[in-house]
Amino acid sequence: MINVTKTFFPPIAEYTFQVQRAYTNEWLTNRGELVRELEEKLTDYLKLDVAKMFITNNGTIPLQIALKLLGGGGEIITTPFSYVATTAAIVWENCTPIFVDIHPEFLTIDETKIEAAITDKTTCILATHVFGNPCNIEEIERIAKKHNLKVIYDAAHSFAVQYKGKSVFEYGDVSTCSFHATKLFHTGEGGAVFCKDPELYRKIYYSHNFGHNGPVDFFGLGINGKISELHAAMGLAVFPYMDEILAGRKDVVDFYNTNLDFTTLAKMKLRDGTDWNYSYYPVMFESEAALLKIQKALNEAQIFPRRYFYPSLNRVNYVESQEMAISESIASRILCLPLYLSLEKNDLERIVEIINFVQ
Ligand SMILES: *Cc1c(COP(=O)(O)O)cnc(C)c1O
Repeated sequence: MINVTKTFFPPIAEYTFQVQRAYTNEWLTNRGELVRELEEKLTDYLKLDVAKMFITNNGTIPLQIALKLLGGGGEIITTPFSYVATTAAIVWENCTPIFVDIHPEFLTIDETKIEAAITDKTTCILATHVFGNPCNIEEIERIAKKHNLKVIYDAAHSFAVQYKGKSVFEYGDVSTCSFHATKLFHTGEGGAVFCKDPELYRKIYYSHNFGHNGPVDFFGLGINGKISELHAAMGLAVFPYMDEILAGRKDVVDFYNTNLDFTTLAKMKLRDGTDWNYSYYPVMFESEAALLKIQKALNEAQIFPRRYFYPSLNRVNYVESQEMAISESIASRILCLPLYLSLEKNDLERIVEIINFVQ
């Protein structure tokens, strides 16, 4: 069976070596040696310049913390084309998602439609760098400055993406990433938060540890967003393979790019200035019927691509439904093809053959 992705498992001896360290330290959580070491390695690897980062128990809690601190229970301008966590975090923090449709080729929020959606209740823009493709960062920053809004980027897909020569995590007031097992770099469950402003960083940091700013002192309301040493152990075991993982994924992407028949298929357009991470391989069909036909043929061959992202988030049952013509159209006919390091050449050939033959 071939799924859309396959979790990278480092050699078990390398994982147990890291777990052994936690045993030796007799320390399992509350920011032990392994968590701090992984943070240092990631900061180096990502070449973080201004932004500071720390790692968390997943990629959703940092979104919620950022919205708790910056959202003020107001209206959040957001994209309908993302994983459901983006919208859910807004609603969970008692804010109101105001959807703005997406660009049909970049698949990120259409920045030209943002200003029309701003009201006196708007506090933040929460946009997703979809499939690692950056939003129009400069324009969003300009709009946010003009209207005194904060910018939060859901950069869950964007590990190792560079935009205009620096980590995409450097942009926005806050950026978040996910280290879930299905993501590019993973700790089983995990995530990270990035922030340039030292004051805001401090608030986010305290918030992820129940609000503690001392053993018996509290900065304010907090939650448990801490990651354990056991998760950091997995991260430390995966980390040395990152370059190999990225190179292997690039080979798969190159194969699809050269061998798929794009007569009736469309690819996502990468934004200029992007050094991409080969995190997903989305293809857009002419219609949902065409997608379903190919999906069925692939499933019969035990190949299971995923409909990322379906449905368009303006249609989930806990938001006020707003029509988003482009996002709904794309969501109905986009499919992410299998993409991972160990995907075999003959399997890739089979996938391409089925798609080219059936379409
Ligand atoms: C995976 C993902 C998340 C959630 O991350 P978790 O680590 O699973 O909590 C949030 N947003 C997007 C766009 C994602 O793909």
